[in-house]
Amino acid sequence: MTKALWLIAAVLSAACVCSAAGPIPVMLLDGESAGTYHKWALITPVLKKQLEETGLFRVDVVTAPPAGGDYNSFKPAFRKYAVVVWNYDAPDERWPADLKASFEQYVREGGGLVSVHAADNAFPNWTAFNEMIGLGGWRARTQQQGPYWYYKDGKLAPDPAPGPAGSHGRRTPYQVTVRAGHPITNGLPQQWMHQGDELYARLRGPGKNVTVLATAYSDPVNNGSGHDEPVLMAISYGRGRVFHTTMGHDINALSSVDFVATFQRGTEWAATGEVTQKVPTSFPTANTVSYRTDFAAMDPGYRNGLNPLDAAPRQ
Ligand code: ZN
Repeated sequence: MTKALWLIAAVLSAACVCSAAGPIPVMLLDGESAGTYHKWALITPVLKKQLEETGLFRVDVVTAPPAGGDYNSFKPAFRKYAVVVWNYDAPDERWPADLKASFEQYVREGGGLVSVHAADNAFPNWTAFNEMIGLGGWRARTQQQGPYWYYKDGKLAPDPAPGPAGSHGRRTPYQVTVRAGHPITNGLPQQWMHQGDELYARLRGPGKNVTVLATAYSDPVNNGSGHDEPVLMAISYGRGRVFHTTMGHDINALSSVDFVATFQRGTEWAATGEVTQKVPTSFPTANTVSYRTDFAAMDPGYRNGLNPLDAAPRQ
């Protein structure tokens, strides 16, 4: 198909499914991640199950080609979906310009986006994508991609200091604090404990149109920044809604009840602008983690419900 025909096909398919009755159509995008420490192929079935157990969503998995793959025929039908969930992290050169343009148009015209954990590592030099996610890290980001941002005095504050973007410590449990009333956070406790996970810090980006929903203190004792770092964010891009969670390094982290609930709620909000789900009674408290053994058991490394701490911090 020529580029012109593809664009016409994309326009003709716009908004034809999302307004229909029935489950919310979700595209779950995967196919790549930097290194081997993000096991995206194991994580996709967990994310899919988490969405589908609500009864609200119908999830199609779309796997992008690897490096050297056939991108001439990779034309995801973004417009058939109310929201695209990214379990995906690729370098700038992976997507051709017309593919990037089609995704930009999709979100700008009202499509939803959910960025999970290392999805905010992707595409450091794709300007529109970084405006969608607000903040990102790694893949050689520096001050060229924007200031550091952290939460201070009730808002996201920029820090112009030079240096690399993205860091975290060992995967220990951390306390999360709600910072905004929002459909995603309404009904959640003001503070809760998140299961052992990477706490992303020192992220950079344009930081535009970002509502910080929740933060966590990044403790210098564990390679932290000493700041309250955004962990859940809502971003607007054109008419599109973006939910950005920095949580979810591995299945152990994804099994935390708060991850499950905020991911389910954030995906509904990104798709529809509303959240109709109840907060689970097993939601963690300010002092105690709570996790789902059914999801944890989907990890081959899961050991009797224990929470293995990371001895060698990786991205
Ligand atoms: Zn990670």
